[in-house]
Amino acid sequence: GINIGVLAVQGDVAENVMATKMAIEDLGMDGIVTEVKTPEQIEDLDGLVIPGGESTVIGTLSLVNGSLKKIKEKIASGMPVFGICAGMIMLSKKAKDRVVGEMDQPLLDYLDVRIERNTFGRQKDSFESEISMEKIGISKFQGVFIRAPSIIETGKDVEIISKFNEKIIAVKQGNILGTSFHPELTGDISLHKYFVGLVKAKH
Ligand code: GLN
Repeated sequence: GINIGVLAVQGDVAENVMATKMAIEDLGMDGIVTEVKTPEQIEDLDGLVIPGGESTVIGTLSLVNGSLKKIKEKIASGMPVFGICAGMIMLSKKAKDRVVGEMDQPLLDYLDVRIERNTFGRQKDSFESEISMEKIGISKFQGVFIRAPSIIETGKDVEIISKFNEKIIAVKQGNILGTSFHPELTGDISLHKYFVGLVKAKH
């Protein structure tokens, strides 16, 4: 079976474990979902979800314990990764904050995009809106945006999966998937199923 990890450093880990488990079950597949923290745990994975939370915290702690380096190696070997909100920021090559400006935070430096953190404002400006991801076969999805980033530049290998108000909010680059919004908070597992499909195809 497949082994999918949810990076359990900070953020909404439990919700992603649940959604990924449901996706595997729904697809009738054989697999496990575990919370991972250490390079040793990450080594064994077929796929990884990096949840939303605070990217500076997730990045700094993962740098310190060596996980960041291990995730980079796994990405280079083709392991699918799904980065959600802060997780998508982690995957990127460059991130700046809408208010603070250029940031020097630890990143995985893979997803060829420039990200603007907190594009849509502060916590109180969190919102939901229906979005669409036709390119990956999901025509209707509830986007939950919490201090969400947007993508302001994409490299040539990056496929734009969704936009909201002209802003890029979902992308794919090879086996790497990133969203500005939080699918694990909706009860809709279609995006997690899509990701599990990427893991299966690579496995
Ligand atoms: N604003 C957060 C960051 O920049 C991301 C918010 C989230 O993951 N919901 O890391």
